[in-house]
Order: sequence, then structure tokens, then C-alpha cells
Amino acid sequence: MNCNMRPIQMVDTKSQYLKIKSAVDTAIHEVLDSAAYINGKPVQDFTAALNTYQGSAHTITCGNGTDALQIAMMALDLQPGDEVITPSYTYIATTEVVALLKLKPVFVEVDPKTFCIDPVSVRNAITPKTKAIVPVHLYGHAAPMEEIMQIAAEFGLYVIEDNAQAIGCDYTFLDGSKKKTGSIGTVGATSFYPSKNLGAYGDGGAIFTNDAALAQKMKMIANHGQQTRYYHEMVGCNSRLDSMQAAVLNIKLKQLDDYTNARQNAANFYNNAFAGNEKITVPYVAPYSTHVYHQYTLQLHNVNRDALSAYLAEKKIPSMIYYPVPGHRQKMFSGFDLPPVDLTITDWLTERVISLPMHTEMDQEQLSYITENVLNFINN
Ligand SMILES: *Cc1c(COP(=O)(O)O)cnc(C)c1O
Repeated sequence: MNCNMRPIQMVDTKSQYLKIKSAVDTAIHEVLDSAAYINGKPVQDFTAALNTYQGSAHTITCGNGTDALQIAMMALDLQPGDEVITPSYTYIATTEVVALLKLKPVFVEVDPKTFCIDPVSVRNAITPKTKAIVPVHLYGHAAPMEEIMQIAAEFGLYVIEDNAQAIGCDYTFLDGSKKKTGSIGTVGATSFYPSKNLGAYGDGGAIFTNDAALAQKMKMIANHGQQTRYYHEMVGCNSRLDSMQAAVLNIKLKQLDDYTNARQNAANFYNNAFAGNEKITVPYVAPYSTHVYHQYTLQLHNVNRDALSAYLAEKKIPSMIYYPVPGHRQKMFSGFDLPPVDLTITDWLTERVISLPMHTEMDQEQLSYITENVLNFINN
């Protein structure tokens, strides 16, 4: 290894910060001076800017992405026992909130090419108790929203998009029109966790909808069920984006499209290096979606994944398995009396995926070093 090479990290938030340090430091000091730590001007400014970016009618900021999903489900008046169709192959937050609200998670398959919810599997899972579908735009690639919205319309279901990994992703409909993921379904939820594509320096989240009444209700739920202070009309929660995080996000939102480009450039480098290797399937990009590469995730064929990961670690190259245990196999749900499901594709993917370092600050030297080492191992 060239000893001048910058250390490789899965996510490099520090290097990214250093490039916007003066703007960020100034904005944070402005918040300190204003003493408006909660719901200050940066929160209003960021909410408006994000709303414009999303092309959504209403945007509500909140404490984190998990709360965003929870507030959306609370506002839709789902009742205990109602069935919510969700992929098993996702981060746990998606399905955990379903269970938290005493709803029934119904785990379905994903498409092995996109890692996103499979519409055929959704259709097969619908019962008279089904109330909602939660497509997840996993790794930064859109779920097949046109088909999902059509199924939802046919059966009168809500669609809650989990956009935590895909902010900035564009969806193209068959008629050529485009929308940002997160602004297509009944509600969209997103996260500003530091490692997300639009990451704060702490927690944060947001909810999008085009339905004014629903927006109003979600805003109340996020604020103890009140519209007028101390008059609580419904049970809600306390979920706020604070002013400092909003001030940071205001700066970073302006960079988001450049950040996405940087991720796409890194992905292209990886794709070119791995092209034609029969032991590696690189991420697929469907005609209806852009890819914002929250993760760069490979599928390995006839490769000892643990040995590859250990080999890379020895070369100071981190790698991760997102996610080692799919939802339908998590102990968390064992008390929920869920019917056994046979999710062959989900299990198959879980055993063969590996994610390589992916962030906005990767340089050619790092990318060459990573791809050379992956290929060294795979081809031997
Ligand atoms: C990160 C994430 C969430 C939760 O966001 P938090 O801000 O960490 O609560 C939900 N769903 C998916 C798919 C995520 O990746």
C-alpha cells in the first residue's frame, strides 16, 4: 500500500466536513448566538428548501427516520392487527415501527436485481386485513413505484415510502414524468443520520406528503398532538429536528446533487473494474430509477465471503454485510405470532452480498487499491 494513501473508511464524514467547515462552523455559531435551539429559523429555512427539492406539497421535519415512519403510520390511523406489507430485506427500522404500533408486518420478497420489494410478492400477500405497503428504496435505488402505486390503487392501500437511503433518487414513470423518491406514495419518510446521503451531525428525519390534511395531522403528532400549545387533540410523540442540525442540513442540501455525482463516479469506477467478472454481480440500475449509491453492494458467486472480508480487512479495506439477518429471521418478531414465510431470494441474497466503501470523498487511488485487492482475492 502506498503509505501516502488516505485511510479507507466505509463512510468518511470527516473529510466531507472539512470541505464545508467554514460555512458549517459559522452556521452553528449563529444558532448558538440566536439561542433558538429548537424550531429556530434554520429549521423553517431547511424545511422550505427540502420541500422545494423534493417537489413535495408538504414537508415535516422530525427527530429521525424511524420516527418519520412511525408518525406516518400513526397518522394513517392503522389499527392493531392491520397488515402492513414490507420487505424482509431492509434495515430493521422499517419493520420495527410496524411491530411497535402493534400492526402486523407481512414480509415479502425483493427483486434480486434491485434489492427492492417485488410487486408480484406484494400482490400475493394481500388479504382483507392489508392496509398499507412500505416499499424501501434500498441502497439508493428506487422500488418499482409505478407498479406498487397501481396495486395500492386497486386494493385501496396506503403507500409509505422508506426513502432513508435514497434521498436525491429520481423515479421516471412510463409516461416520461419524473418524481423524487419519497414524494410518490401517500407518505414518504427519510433520515438524516450522519452516514445517510444527506447526513446531519446528529439525528434528524423528515416526512413528505401531497395530502394537506395528512400533513397537518403528522405535524401535530410530531408535536404531542397539539396545534395550539397545551391543547392536545390526539396522542402524539415528541419528535423534532433541532436548529443546529437544520443549519448543517441547509448547507449540505445545496451540495446534495454534487454528493450524489461523487457517489455515482465511485460506483462507475467499481463497475468498470468488476465488469465481466462472473463471480461478481455489480449493482443493477433499472430504467425507471437513478441510483444514488447509499451503498455499493455486490453479489458474490462461488466466493468465500468471510475469507474475502478478512483478506480485505488485512489490507485495511473495510467491508460490511447489509444486513446479516433479514427481518423474518429476527428474534424481535418471535412473539408476534407471524405465519412462517418462505423468502428464498431474501435468504439467498443475505448470504452473498457484500458492501464496499462508498462515500463522497473516495479518490482514484483508494478505488484502484480496493478493486485490485478484491480482484486479487476473487481471481485466485
Ligand atoms: C437509516 C434507516 C432508517 C432509520 O433512520 P434513523 O434516522 O436511523 O432512525 C429507516 N429505514 C432505512 C431503510 C434506513 O436505512
